[in-house]
Amino acid sequence: MDAGADTDVILVGAGPVALFAVFQLGLYGLKCTLVDSLHRAGGQCAVLYPDKPIYDVPGFPRIDGLDLTARLLEQIAPFAPRLHFGTTVTGFAQQPDGRFRVTMTDGAAIGASVVVIASGLGTFVPGEGEPSLEAGPAPGWPLERTKDAFIVDAERFETSQPGVFAIGDACHYPGKLRLILSGFHEAALMTQAVRRISFPGGRTALAYTTSSSRLRKKIEGAVSSQE
Ligand SMILES: Cc1cc2nc3c(=O)[nH]c(=O)nc-3n(C[C@H](O)[C@H](O)[C@H](O)COP(=O)(O)OP(=O)(O)OC[C@H]3O[C@@H](n4cnc5c(N)ncnc54)[C@H](O)[C@@H]3O)c2cc1C
Repeated sequence: MDAGADTDVILVGAGPVALFAVFQLGLYGLKCTLVDSLHRAGGQCAVLYPDKPIYDVPGFPRIDGLDLTARLLEQIAPFAPRLHFGTTVTGFAQQPDGRFRVTMTDGAAIGASVVVIASGLGTFVPGEGEPSLEAGPAPGWPLERTKDAFIVDAERFETSQPGVFAIGDACHYPGKLRLILSGFHEAALMTQAVRRISFPGGRTALAYTTSSSRLRKKIEGAVSSQE
């Protein structure tokens, strides 16, 4: 676990939606740091229903929460995200240069160009036995919200603060469904918005991993650099 260095994107939470976002962002060369109050990835899948079958993840007729988490971690391994576990994000402040300084309960602070809130239903607090849930979006954060989620637009998934995005169960927009597959879609659209911010004037056409040699090289290059 290396939380020391600054990053392109910091993700608050390491549930299934944040994990898939690392893959999407990685395709565009964006380096990610994931922070979770738990000592492991997987969010609700890992805590609330680790062994129960999930039947509505596309491509998997049946998969349990721990297996899905393991596969997502395998999928993002080529992009080598930094994992900062067992600490809670307490806040973020925009600096004069436009970057964010994100602070945590363990005293760490990480700089990032973009903040992506993927905090789900709230913070899982580890303790004796099963973790307990401190439900709801962090109260002190200066973002427009409903009772239990941050309000975003359904095109960019940006919150009321430019540069701060929210995806997965942590976000709300008309028609929002709290399903894993919806979170994956939100991660893909958020990524398109973040890449336009990060590389203004860059390519705008969508590229496919099947047919784009550029994207394939990114994935395969990252895989082979790990071997
Ligand atoms: C009983 C149950 C069954 C379900 N079954 C299905 C199903 O069959 N199919 C389906 O698609 N969906 C199902 N869901 C919904 C699915 O679990 C959620 O949609 C999904 O987990 C949302 O993922 P997420 O990554 O947005 O958030 P989460 O999985 O909630 O992960 C968020 C993570 O962020 C961390 N976090 C929060 N705040 C902070 C902070 N400030 N600092 C650090 N870490 C923080 C939390 O500890 C947590 O680990 C079910 C939900 C429940 C409760």
